[in-house]
Amino acid sequence: LDSLLQEKIHKMKSTVGLRAKKVLKSNGLTFATLLGVIIGIILGVSLKASREEDWTDREAMYVGYIGKLFLNMLKSVIIPLIIPSLIAAIGGLDLSLSGRIGLRAIVYYMSTTVFAVILGIILVVTIRPGVGADTGDASGDQTTKRNVLTSDTLMDLLRNCFPPNIIQAALQQYQTTIIQPVVADNETMPAKELWKMGNNWTNSTNILGLVVFSIVTGVAIALSGEDGIPLLRFFESISIVMMKLTGWIITLAPVGVCFLIAGQILEMDDIAEEFRKLGWYFGTVLIGLSIHGLIVLPLLFTLVTKTMPFRFLANMGNAYVTAFGTASSSATLPVTIQTLEEKNGVDPRITRFVLPIGATINMDGTALYEAVAAIFIAQMSGINPSLGQIIAICITATAASIGAAGIPQAGLVTMVMVLDTVGLPSESVSIILSLDWLLDRFRTAINVLGDSIGAGIVNHLSQKELEDRKSVV
Ligand code: ASP
Repeated sequence: LDSLLQEKIHKMKSTVGLRAKKVLKSNGLTFATLLGVIIGIILGVSLKASREEDWTDREAMYVGYIGKLFLNMLKSVIIPLIIPSLIAAIGGLDLSLSGRIGLRAIVYYMSTTVFAVILGIILVVTIRPGVGADTGDASGDQTTKRNVLTSDTLMDLLRNCFPPNIIQAALQQYQTTIIQPVVADNETMPAKELWKMGNNWTNSTNILGLVVFSIVTGVAIALSGEDGIPLLRFFESISIVMMKLTGWIITLAPVGVCFLIAGQILEMDDIAEEFRKLGWYFGTVLIGLSIHGLIVLPLLFTLVTKTMPFRFLANMGNAYVTAFGTASSSATLPVTIQTLEEKNGVDPRITRFVLPIGATINMDGTALYEAVAAIFIAQMSGINPSLGQIIAICITATAASIGAAGIPQAGLVTMVMVLDTVGLPSESVSIILSLDWLLDRFRTAINVLGDSIGAGIVNHLSQKELEDRKSVV
């Protein structure tokens, strides 16, 4: 009996060991990347603590150097991977199917974003982090002092969907500015509506414009029949090759994120002091993000797909960690696509269609944060938003998250619009500036999680149709 028991234990041990090995092997990169984050934090914090005076920008640059190289590599594949993949995915489907898939994705994006905003509002109104908070002196930051009206921001969003020059869209996007008139001492400042209009092309890729152009090109290919096939094959081929490149870059993630984070910590002022001032606000956003990302979205996944979400979520680990490390959903996009296809078996026709759109317009984390931050700032300024204002915040926070690019701290910029609805000046974002780099990483991870679950859900709902049309890509 004894030997039988021992044999059984031995067998059990070896299967546990085998399984552990398997998990480690298939998730090795995720563990390594996570380790990279932890080592990055330890490295950053201990370097910072190792001396009294601040680290200079140059020294922080040296520490973050390797991280920036990794980030550059990831960014370099965004355009050549995303555009051909999107065109090929849509061009290879027939139109009724792509219409249905697109519609499902949009319904998911809109409903989850609005839900995130409402959750954020409920939390910030009940926790009230801004009542009695102390921000010390909130010195303004140049970059956030943009004078615009809400309507300008909304119109820019649509304007950027239709760039006049597609090559320029890869480099720049449009941004309305209004020019403050010079008035004499005895004159009053005219209303913002009367200021002179300026225009401005900023140096950041207009991904939204590129995505819209690619969708329409894909539709045109699908409608061109035989004549469109060579172009379709061309884009398919680029996307296959770029995916290979992406795979190589992803293996560098552990080292990349480690140095990105260490460099960022060195650039920081006193972190503990910032937490003392903004701790409650930080906590409120974090609670909201956790509820949304760990409860609401997984629950939705389970309800729709009738499967447990744990494996699906765990398989995406690498994408979240990269999102945390880069603070950019666009830069993470290649990783998200690869992980969803390879580990979760999501059909490439779905991932390459819905993810590029999702990464640019679906940002649940950002939406939640915009609502919490705007009301927090209002609370600090002694303003109690009325119900009408709260509804307006709901709408503008949703629009602001759609309008935010998938780049670090983009949400901070589009928040000007949300603040405007409560009558707060754009400079008041400086109150939350000091901890934004960190919150940004958390909300970006939730943005990526939202996109991934969306792709999983759309994939499930479109299963039958996709099987009927076994196609290329
Ligand atoms: N960094 C975020 C992203 O890329 C956008 C933001 O909320 O600032 O998803």
